[in-house]
Amino acid sequence: MNTPSLLILAGDGIGPEVMDEVKRIITWYGKKRDMEFDVTEDLVGGVAYDKHGTPLTDETMAKAQEVDAVLLGAVGGPAYDDLDFSVKPERGLLRLRKEMDLFSNLRPAKCFDALADFSSLKKEVVAGLDIMIVRELTSGVYFGEPRGIFDLPNGEREGINTQRYTTSEIRRVARSAFELARKRSNKVCSMEKANVMESGVLWREEVTWVHENEYPDVELSHMYADAGAMQLVRWPKQFDVIVTDNLFGDLLSDTAAMLTGSLGMLPSASLGVPMENGRPKAMYEPVHGSAPDITGQGKANPIACILSFAMALRYSFNDGAEADRLEAAVEKVLADGARTADLLGPEDGTPISTTEMGDAILAALDASL
Ligand code: NAD
Repeated sequence: MNTPSLLILAGDGIGPEVMDEVKRIITWYGKKRDMEFDVTEDLVGGVAYDKHGTPLTDETMAKAQEVDAVLLGAVGGPAYDDLDFSVKPERGLLRLRKEMDLFSNLRPAKCFDALADFSSLKKEVVAGLDIMIVRELTSGVYFGEPRGIFDLPNGEREGINTQRYTTSEIRRVARSAFELARKRSNKVCSMEKANVMESGVLWREEVTWVHENEYPDVELSHMYADAGAMQLVRWPKQFDVIVTDNLFGDLLSDTAAMLTGSLGMLPSASLGVPMENGRPKAMYEPVHGSAPDITGQGKANPIACILSFAMALRYSFNDGAEADRLEAAVEKVLADGARTADLLGPEDGTPISTTEMGDAILAALDASL
């Protein structure tokens, strides 16, 4: 098999700072685990606009289509707020997701024991939490036609968005959730609003079809998305994999994420259909943005970006053992008390820097050998 290829798009703000720590970890895997990656770097977002007048050039888009996985830092910042919508930094990110057809967005919500006190929920509700939200990412109400704001004959205006799903769009994201569940605790809960939406009825029927015909060994339950939101904050540990549409997934994954504490801890993966070599089209990125308020100060927590690379090891390179090793290294440094500023309250002692967090994780990786 060829050397696995990675395209690094560090982007704006703290993106390059957190990605620097990931690059050190990639180097560690080359040196210590004999896992070489063919790494290319390029620009996305505001930095790409500054150089090329567009947040993503066609050449960069073409590279993203060819590599085994894209690692993205963050895009955006106040310097670009007044740009035309068509060249805003976020358009670069949306173009990547759309043209790579990354329909399955994986958002884990995992509570590290050492941070259980950090959650806004009671410790016993979140300690040991490990759930995965699979959000459909390329269809639904954010993309459905017709859409727009229209003038009505009576002088009023009307805003329209259309929730629309097809059989194949639902089936493919359902399969991705069932596949994940088989590697975890073998349970999927599908969430929609079948009580009030026809698209929800279809969603439930198609998820059930995939279950009965292809994954009868996985436990499947259904829940209305509003009830699901309540259950997520009442007793989240009842869930393993949750699969849901684009809109509900947007809300539910952010809710679940906050159960675990800081934005600086949250990774994500967006996966598409398998390429010729069997690997899915894939992009891995922290959930957080470019954090202009702390850019250039060495304060950014690199863990979200590092855990995104762990997801790449697991889902693109099929190396669960090395992904476990990296996640365990993060768990160890947190248990030992290493904290960037975002993981500390005002009275909680001295934070370490982005680089020092990287150092600690590398030391824990060394210790794992
Ligand atoms: P943000 O995620 O950048 O920051 C929110 C808050 O969390 C800030 O106080 C920030 O300092 C803190 N924070 C975020 N990541 C952190 C980390 N790794 N370590 C420590 N603290 C961290 O969201 P925002 O402030 O709403 O947006 C800033 C810019 O980022 C905007 O231009 C926005 O459009 C963009 N954005 C980009 C993405 C992305 O690239 N995927 C996502 C969200 C926002």
